[in-house]
Amino acid sequence: MASDEKDKDRYLSDIEIDKLSVVQLKDYLRFHNQYVSGNNNELVLRAKGVQKLGFNDRQVHRNAEVNYEKRKTEKLVTPLGEKLPHPDVLNTWSIDLMDFPTFTDSDIYNYFVLKMNTKKQLRSKVYYVDRHVHSILYHEISDKCEHCFVKCKVLPSLPSANVKENPDHSVWLCLSKVTGQVHSAECNCTAGSGEACNHIGALMYALSDLTAKKKDGTLASTSKKCVWDRFNNPRKRKLTPKKSSELTFRKHTFESKLEPVEKKTTEKNFLQFL
Ligand SMILES: [Zn+2]
Repeated sequence: MASDEKDKDRYLSDIEIDKLSVVQLKDYLRFHNQYVSGNNNELVLRAKGVQKLGFNDRQVHRNAEVNYEKRKTEKLVTPLGEKLPHPDVLNTWSIDLMDFPTFTDSDIYNYFVLKMNTKKQLRSKVYYVDRHVHSILYHEISDKCEHCFVKCKVLPSLPSANVKENPDHSVWLCLSKVTGQVHSAECNCTAGSGEACNHIGALMYALSDLTAKKKDGTLASTSKKCVWDRFNNPRKRKLTPKKSSELTFRKHTFESKLEPVEKKTTEKNFLQFL
């Protein structure tokens, strides 16, 4: 049975296909997700086309799965070859923001543009500014370990009141404690396995802002644990309907300053758009 399955999985040559019975042809086509209608001639032509057109979905899926599994292991091995535990199995995460490693916008650029070869996520700052990021936690893994984990929750882009159907995304980053360089990242959203979704970007912007605040003294260390309300106070999910004339339009700025430019729309301003 196992060898049959294995045999079925490979592409057949044109000579082999010519020797197949109609039943075998249909089996072969079904296995490769093709239609099985038509006369013998049509079936033969379609079967020969399977390989030429690269219609082997199963092979493609399996390769993707193998790569994904391989990457899952790689993510938890540092450049120095140290094996890290998965963030899910770690307990006692720190909420003290003073523990977090130094992280800047350059680290974000290095990660997305230079490492992941994507620019789009540089705009994910808006998720952070709009308070989608919350419950940020830090884990040093161990005293000796040169890497650490930071994890958080990120509200979905389309907020709804139903938390069960639309749960917050879980994001984690593995960073160098010394340089702040991102070694790996993960998010449980559909795009997150690619390690470059907006939620991952949002957490990075939160860390960069945290570092800036530590530097300018806004987050002075005290005997009390330094927990930043902003991180643990996400925006409300429920959206209340408003008249359009009562809305405040905001333009997000992507410069160093975080404060968005606010402009109150007056009735008169609004009417000019009608
Ligand atoms: Zn995500």
